[in-house]
Amino acid sequence: MFGKILIANRGEIACRVIRTARKLGARTVAVYSDADARALHVEMADEAVHIGPSPVGDSYLRGDRIIAAALATGAEAIHPGYGFLSENPDFVDQVTAAGLIFIGPSAASIRAMGLKDAAKRLMEKAGVPVVPGYHGEAQEIVLLASKAREIGYPVLIKARAGGGGKGMRRVEHPDDFSEALSGARREAKAAFGDDRVLVEKYVDKPRHIEVQVFGDNFGNAVHLFERDCSAQRRHQKVIEEAPAPGMTPALRKAMTEAAVKAAKAISYSGAGTIEFIVDASEGLKADRFWFMEMNTRLQVEHPVTEMVTGVDLVEWQLRVAAGEKLPKTQNEIALAGHAFEARIYAEDAAKGFLPATGTLYHLRFPDAPPEGAAMRIETGVRSGDAISPFYDPMIAKLVVHAKDRTTALGALREALARTEVAGSTVNTAFLAALAADADFAAGDIDTGLIGRHQDALVAVPAPSDEAIAAAALAAADAGALGPAADPWSSFAGYAHFHTLARRTRLRYGEENILARVSARPDGRFQVALEAPHDAINAHDLRNMPRSARWPGHVTVFEGAIGYTFTVPDPLAKADEAAAASDSLRAPMPGLVKLVRAAAGDAVIKGQPLLILEAMKMEHTIAAPHEGVIAEIAAEGAQVSDGTVLVRFEDTRG
Ligand code: ADP
Ligand code: ADP
Ligand code: MG
Repeated sequence: MFGKILIANRGEIACRVIRTARKLGARTVAVYSDADARALHVEMADEAVHIGPSPVGDSYLRGDRIIAAALATGAEAIHPGYGFLSENPDFVDQVTAAGLIFIGPSAASIRAMGLKDAAKRLMEKAGVPVVPGYHGEAQEIVLLASKAREIGYPVLIKARAGGGGKGMRRVEHPDDFSEALSGARREAKAAFGDDRVLVEKYVDKPRHIEVQVFGDNFGNAVHLFERDCSAQRRHQKVIEEAPAPGMTPALRKAMTEAAVKAAKAISYSGAGTIEFIVDASEGLKADRFWFMEMNTRLQVEHPVTEMVTGVDLVEWQLRVAAGEKLPKTQNEIALAGHAFEARIYAEDAAKGFLPATGTLYHLRFPDAPPEGAAMRIETGVRSGDAISPFYDPMIAKLVVHAKDRTTALGALREALARTEVAGSTVNTAFLAALAADADFAAGDIDTGLIGRHQDALVAVPAPSDEAIAAAALAAADAGALGPAADPWSSFAGYAHFHTLARRTRLRYGEENILARVSARPDGRFQVALEAPHDAINAHDLRNMPRSARWPGHVTVFEGAIGYTFTVPDPLAKADEAAAASDSLRAPMPGLVKLVRAAAGDAVIKGQPLLILEAMKMEHTIAAPHEGVIAEIAAEGAQVSDGTVLVRFEDTRG
């Protein structure tokens, strides 16, 4: 086994690889860009090397700098993760030339599978069924159009260098062919610098079913069963599962045999995935599946396979790269239970899945797996981290495993409902809606399902009055309404000073909401909402939804939906509130870094009283007026937003 490896990636996959490397006793070196200087993968690794500015072309795609970092730190091997340099054969050659080991297949294997057209020709020769279509060299429009007619509409135009669903156009009618072709070419040229295409039969009721394969350097190759990735939007995977629902023994046998044959045809070493397209229009038939492409790397969705086989695929990658034989033979690999993976992204499902950015002010995953299930949270971010525009906006992969599909799907829904993200738009509600979709639950899936049900899947019901009340309470700065806080106790404490009664303004979408929050001397409180909402009395609020306050906003969690309300600027409000209540409260959660005054001190307006460190920035809290301090927070105290930091003596009579 290696003594030290470098991980040429970021985010959840870098963290995931580090965990297994550590388990195997290998030391780890992370690489990072400017934007990732404080990223989780950097913190987790034993060492970290800065490789450049934030854009990927200046950092994570700089093979030369990554190799130099490996040499400088004494790493023996490089794990590429997925994306970035993972399927770049020239990088593999450079790694090898530098005397290092690439944890992945040979450059030759990657080249053989790198272009979809050449890969299909190769697979045809190896006797693997390929999607009917044209995958030749000639690219004249007239020829491609006549091939399309031969194949029969609808057809799919694909960039041969494609990936991530880019450069792909479905064409229904010959009249639309040339326009679709230009579109596919433009996109392919921009994304891959290669505008050559292939034309395929568009498979009816298509299901994407892929087989995990693994090879070693001794000619062995096995499969680790299939994954179903048919839940897609714009040809991109959303929820993956293993095994495929409705899989028959005959189709599984045919597919897994074809996959192993494909791997052996290129003497494949390491983890790989053979993607097949399956015609499910008449159920799953053993002669209705075709090779689409091979991904010569660890796949994003590899954890579902790990869950159902009990194999740590990254461990196998390291062992095989270190020269060991495959740890198991085919008949030692068995399938148990059912697993799902949901990809939690910062994106706006309702706005065409537009990628989102922002700071994850609040990020909370279930702290225990749902009953009867196992759970894995694969993430590369933590509360306070930013989703920058530079990289893939994935926040986490939520993976569950249970004895059967129904139980696992229930567990997925529950885990999504217990996931809280505030600070950026996220797709958790969309994922939960998909997990609750009747066809999805029945296993009646194909790649068009999300598109057909799109409107229902992205629709978000209006927040309940309880949710609005919870938002009003949090916005009223009435106390620490943070995740772990008990609003009752914080209100009770607050009510010692005086009775709180405050009108609070909120905005939800286009709607302005006016609420009156009042705390009574007995420590209870009440939220009255302006019509058309109901007044919520103190008793109803016992089961109030959870909420998270973040600058300018409050997010209330109901099920998997996070309702985000806009509230006035917290700093401005803190000042205003301080003047009204004669106390200064923390405008955001943070650490009391420095205290510059003590109880009994007479202070003047504008005098700095303490420094609060929040979101890695220091905020000076100054006296809003002259007065005498009655109480002041202790240095080193961790406070939530709304916590009273300074209270003044009441000298105004
Ligand atoms: P997979 O085929 O493994 O499911 P996807 O199809 O979702 O992966 O992703 C396609 C490609 O998108 C990946 O191979 C990778 O190039 C890129 N990608 C996705 N997520 C990331 C990420 N977090 N970092 C870098 N690249 C990524
Ligand atoms: P990428 O490299 O972008 O992953 P793929 O060839 O794997 O490209 O195709 C991506 C997705 O497009 C598949 O998962 C599938 O949903 C759809 N697709 C690809 N080929 C076909 C086809 N011939 N018929 C129907 N759908 C297809
Ligand atoms: Mg693919």
